[in-house]
Amino acid sequence: MAQPMIQKPNGTRDVIPSQMYKWNTVEAIVKAQAEAYGFKEIRFPTFEDTGLFVRSVGDTTDVVQKEMYSVTATERTGEQGTSYTLRPEGTAGTMRALIENGLLNEGLPQKLFYVISCFRHEKPQAGRLREFHQFGVEMAGTQDPRADAEVIALGKSILDMAGLKNITLNINSIGCPECRAKYQQALRDYFKPHLDKMCDTCHSRYEKNPLRLLDCKSEICSEIAGDAPVILDYLCEECGTHFESLKKYLTAMGIEFTVNPRIVRGLDYYTKTVFEFISNDIGSQGTVCGGGRYDGLIGQLSGKPCPALGFGMGLERLILTMENQGADFADEETCDIYIGSMGEAGAVKAMQLCRELRADGVRAECDVVGRSVRAQMKYADKIGAKFSVMIGDSELESGTAKLKDMQGKSEPADITLGEDFGSVFNAMLIAKQLEAEGLDGALTELL
Ligand code: ATP
Ligand code: MG
Repeated sequence: MAQPMIQKPNGTRDVIPSQMYKWNTVEAIVKAQAEAYGFKEIRFPTFEDTGLFVRSVGDTTDVVQKEMYSVTATERTGEQGTSYTLRPEGTAGTMRALIENGLLNEGLPQKLFYVISCFRHEKPQAGRLREFHQFGVEMAGTQDPRADAEVIALGKSILDMAGLKNITLNINSIGCPECRAKYQQALRDYFKPHLDKMCDTCHSRYEKNPLRLLDCKSEICSEIAGDAPVILDYLCEECGTHFESLKKYLTAMGIEFTVNPRIVRGLDYYTKTVFEFISNDIGSQGTVCGGGRYDGLIGQLSGKPCPALGFGMGLERLILTMENQGADFADEETCDIYIGSMGEAGAVKAMQLCRELRADGVRAECDVVGRSVRAQMKYADKIGAKFSVMIGDSELESGTAKLKDMQGKSEPADITLGEDFGSVFNAMLIAKQLEAEGLDGALTELL
């Protein structure tokens, strides 16, 4: 008896070729915009020492407490006891790499970006996966609020390029450790009389990380949190001025925002600026992009303080929002020419021509199945080939074949199978492209 088919793990996704254009579209946008703002790409391992995440993300966060995928190395690997974790986010790994590779001794600020998969053991639902993808940026070596404004502007440019509407930028400042200590006390004083009505998680938040009390999604807790004291009233002078300057720069760049004192972010390492771009179209998992400043993080990892900031953008959520809003995705390129064949000699010629064309960057395909002429043409149609040609004994003998414009109305044209096949075909391709762009008659003229 056949064994049951093994399926993908819960909370993971396949991207099949017919859907790939969406990913290619968003990846092209994020990379182009990151580069326009002067950010350079960085790559780092999919897994890191567990301690890196505990120390940077913070041991009271949901991510560290319940969402990490960790393994402990065994004797066999010679690293017994070492624990490794699949990255739940990208900041920790980037910061480690920045420090370990001495990049902080080079020109500052360092401006980096990445497109990575992240892993969190969460309850899967729309916009919440166990393996998801993030575009992230990090800037290290500046405390200036202009840097915060630039990072936010990059996020905004990307969402604009993706054609998104109805996205609200929420900003807040959660101050420095100094202002936060006073605020945490104020929060505890406020929540204390309400604690018996609140959820279990909030009880431990109350003890360990009262700021997160503002982030609870349960109805009763969030209702209580509604009247809690506001961090902005507790900011020290430096943090207050920093936040005012950020608002000034955002306004100067024409970026609309809402000051939302309830935004505290899920991870521990934030200081001063925090922000989220929230979509009103994808339900409760509406945070498409979240980030802020973490001036203490590098010092915490290396002992040498260095201010830094950045954001993470969930690519599944970005694509979901684009789909819901009917945004445009770029079309994928299809096959330029299908070179069909009849008989062995024709098949060999087709393979040779394909190889030559590909060396010129042309998308060329030939029959690798041994199909009938009819079936080959059907296949050429299916893969969306722009042109096709069929090579049999008579074509080989005469040295010419009929080149068919698959989508166009023009009659097939003669094309010689000699040395200039590639250059003639390339000219046709360009003419077809020009015609598609509105330069009528370009192709017909050439044919
Ligand atoms: P949330 O409050 O939605 O759980 P978070 O605070 O845990 O988000 P971050 O750690 O800031 O999220 O990650 C940055 C971005 O990555 C989020 O804004 C979101 O777009 C995306 N993201 C986070 N977790 C997931 C997930 N499990 N599945 C898909 N995307 C996610
Ligand atoms: Mg989360």
